[in-house]
Amino acid sequence: MRTRLDSIDAVVDAHLCTGCGACAYLRPDALAMKDIENVGVRPLPIVGITSGVAGDALAACPGRALEHDQAALEDAPFGGEWGPILALYECWATDPTVRHRGSSGGVATALSAHAVTSGAAVGALQVQARSDAPLLNETRLNRHYAQIVAAAGSRYSPASPCERLDLVEAAEGPCVVVGKPCDIAATRSAANRRPELAEKIGLTIGIFCAGTPSTAATADLVRDLGIDPADVERLDYRGEGWPGEFRLRTRSGETRSLSYAESWGSLTKRRQWRCMICPDHTGEFADLSVGDPWYRRTEGQDGRSLVVVRTERGRAALLAALADGAIAGYELSLDKLPASQPSLETTRGSLWGRLITLRLAGAGVPTYRRLPTFRLWRKLDVRQKLSSFAGTMRRIKVRGLRRPEFSREER
Ligand SMILES: Cc1cc2nc3c(=O)[nH]c(=O)nc-3n(C[C@H](O)[C@H](O)[C@H](O)COP(=O)(O)OP(=O)(O)OC[C@H]3O[C@@H](n4cnc5c(N)ncnc54)[C@H](O)[C@@H]3O)c2cc1C
Repeated sequence: MRTRLDSIDAVVDAHLCTGCGACAYLRPDALAMKDIENVGVRPLPIVGITSGVAGDALAACPGRALEHDQAALEDAPFGGEWGPILALYECWATDPTVRHRGSSGGVATALSAHAVTSGAAVGALQVQARSDAPLLNETRLNRHYAQIVAAAGSRYSPASPCERLDLVEAAEGPCVVVGKPCDIAATRSAANRRPELAEKIGLTIGIFCAGTPSTAATADLVRDLGIDPADVERLDYRGEGWPGEFRLRTRSGETRSLSYAESWGSLTKRRQWRCMICPDHTGEFADLSVGDPWYRRTEGQDGRSLVVVRTERGRAALLAALADGAIAGYELSLDKLPASQPSLETTRGSLWGRLITLRLAGAGVPTYRRLPTFRLWRKLDVRQKLSSFAGTMRRIKVRGLRRPEFSREER
């Protein structure tokens, strides 16, 4: 298999596509996103079998490469291992409905809604469940409070918000873009290449992300609960308490639920490969990024969100939302970030060994610049270091990483 990442097809074949959809936004004449049930959402050629798309679409692809600006990482705490950080907060939405519906404290939603109701933005680009097929997702530019609130909550099935950056580009004023770390990195790269888009991006909000499981992973979980996925009318992965339960309702009104730990324990095994070699699980390219404050163990209570301020634009948006009472909260010491996501340090350290193994084995390797990993690698114990090599070798074989991710016939 070719490992030169010289086209979008090559990135997909090398199992490195994140599914963000930026390439389809930049080349809507050539590519459209499609959910491949066992894989993820992938850009497929609109006409013919091979599109060979490169240019801006490839240059903006976060699956192929991620790079911080030198200036953004200057004086970054933790040696830049958690990206640019200006401050850390713990917050929650003051609207009890938003806080209840949100995955953590409803802060991503409350910040999006506040930007719109305060006039700072005309809409928020958000992912939400498709009303006709609730295991799948769609992206909308929501312009009203009720619409923005209806999109609260994590969707663990594949989603491609960048595919609809055209809505932001065509909007009459600045917009909020909400997405996973890869979505936000892609939004920034696309904006660097499209001034028309750049001028419409008012604020980016990244949600922390450990990786996207396939649609088939969710469908199998639904079947395990004794329900045919075709009968599902509504499906929530979290929320209604923190961290909340995986819950579904069928068209005939039957309900099922599963604890967060059990559902994520099952879904996580079927994350796409690119997520397992991702250095950015905390939205390092966003203005603000939001995750779970796992440093505290108060499950079952009203949720709270950890908020990382990464840019001055993000700080201004957060302080405005606090001042206007859309969210409440307080500043935390920075050490609460690694304390909240302890496994991410190990994951990022292991990445150093994983990437070397991929390169030596001739599998596809993304390029990461100014996303340091080596110091974290050195902190790993011998067992962890060995397992980063051996585990990757095993996955190269089991996942078939030297073969295309899926066959042409499936496309
Ligand atoms: C696949 C996945 C993995 C995650 N892994 C972690 C993790 O390891 N650690 C952690 O702390 N948090 C993780 N989260 C994020 C976490 O679940 C919360 O979304 C985050 O803490 C924000 O909570 P909130 O209540 O402030 O957001 P909410 O107010 O609930 O708003 C969530 C926002 O995210 C958007 N959104 C939801 N799903 C997607 C998606 N798939 N793609 C793009 N946008 C989406 C919604 O449109 C909404 O605007 C993950 C989320 C996802 C989707």
